[in-house]
Amino acid sequence: MFNIRCVMVVSGGRKMKKWILVFLTITAVLTGCFFLLNHWIPVVEIIGDPEITLEYTETFEDPGANVYWRSSLLPFITKEAELDTESDLSNDLGDHQIHYHIKNHHQEADGVRVIHVVDTDRPVIHLETIEDHYTRYNHPYEEEGFSASDPHDGDLTDQVVSEEKDGYVYYTVSDSSGNTTKKRRKIFYDDREAPVITMDGGNEFSWQNGIPYEDHYSAEDDCDGDVTDKVIVEGNVDVHTNGDYTLTYTVEDSHGNASSAERIVHVKGFFENENTIYLTFDDGPGSHTDHLLDVLDQYNVKVTFFATNAYPGYAYCMKRAAEAGHTVAVHTASHNYAQIYASDEAYWDDFNRVNDVIEAQTGNRSRLFRFPGGSSNTVSANYSEGIMSRLAAEAAEYGYTYFDWNVSSGDAGGTTDTNTVYENVIRGIQYNHDHGVPSVVLQHDIKEFSVNAVESIILWGLENGYHFAPLSDLSFTAHHGIAN
Ligand SMILES: [Zn+2]
Repeated sequence: MFNIRCVMVVSGGRKMKKWILVFLTITAVLTGCFFLLNHWIPVVEIIGDPEITLEYTETFEDPGANVYWRSSLLPFITKEAELDTESDLSNDLGDHQIHYHIKNHHQEADGVRVIHVVDTDRPVIHLETIEDHYTRYNHPYEEEGFSASDPHDGDLTDQVVSEEKDGYVYYTVSDSSGNTTKKRRKIFYDDREAPVITMDGGNEFSWQNGIPYEDHYSAEDDCDGDVTDKVIVEGNVDVHTNGDYTLTYTVEDSHGNASSAERIVHVKGFFENENTIYLTFDDGPGSHTDHLLDVLDQYNVKVTFFATNAYPGYAYCMKRAAEAGHTVAVHTASHNYAQIYASDEAYWDDFNRVNDVIEAQTGNRSRLFRFPGGSSNTVSANYSEGIMSRLAAEAAEYGYTYFDWNVSSGDAGGTTDTNTVYENVIRGIQYNHDHGVPSVVLQHDIKEFSVNAVESIILWGLENGYHFAPLSDLSFTAHHGIAN
């Protein structure tokens, strides 16, 4: 420019025209060269971050891209372009792309923005609680209920894993994106049930006088398990003194729940030994039974009657005997061998007929009995082979006890003499005594001469240190042995 101004000063208007011409020519040449040599470069400039992470709940406004054509020769020269945008963007988890595109006949350019749609929300676990709910100590927790949901996945309740450990329940759940939620519940333990005491043998039973008392019980607690050894038993049973004894059982579990129970033990009878005499009278009651009862009353001796219904007019003696403390037991109603040993059914029919009478007179059916002819009789084989074995087994099944005898008075046919009856009886008793067993004496109260021997037998027994007792289901049975 400095030079041009100097020329203008020196040369004036003509020279200036010439220079303008030169200038225009150069410009035209340059412009021509530009159009010949230049080409346009597509440019895509993504606005903002080309890679974006987006929560699936967020809305996204695309800031777009700047696109234009740029001169290859003179980069500061640009021209506008039309943007073509293509996108698969949605709220679905995963990667999506937005394409920014420009293109002409010769060239094109593509800019890509990557959008990572993610779920970072964690699922929510809701624990339900039941009012007053508790778990027993040493027992597994009983679930009160729970639910789990996730903002993206929805209900995840069935995905929850729960684990009980050290007094807590731990719940864990993960959503499909791996977001995990944990929650724990403290288990409330309690113990509100008292132990249960079980009395073997029941809350009330009889105990034979003289037998050392054994107590059997157990206690179980819902939390502590077996607490039998914590049971405290109060009271005692004096097995040498008849009477009713109350035992009290108390037990407390380790959380203070207590329970108690009572048992009444009736100590009865006496401890039988070789000095024991069981007088028994079969086939009555009859016309001499009242007299016999008078004699027994006089000495306060208790005996046993194996009753029939042969003399129904004397049935009232059963009542009198029972009220006086004698044992009234069954001997069958008819005492007819052919009839009673014809069949098992016939036997028990006859048995029950006299037991009906006993019940009517005494208020109780008897569980004690004596077979007519004794358990060793073989006459029954004439009517039914093996019936004695069957009846004995059936008796055991029904809970009946049968007695034979080990002292025979001979009054059933051996003698009709009172003194001989007396001699037979005391000889038998002495024999048993020497062999260490109690005596079960067989007499018949329908025979006057036999009844008349009773007073002498009692006097002899009392003078010689014996005691008389009625039979009970705990007594010596003097079984002969079954032969049919
Ligand atoms: Zn008889």
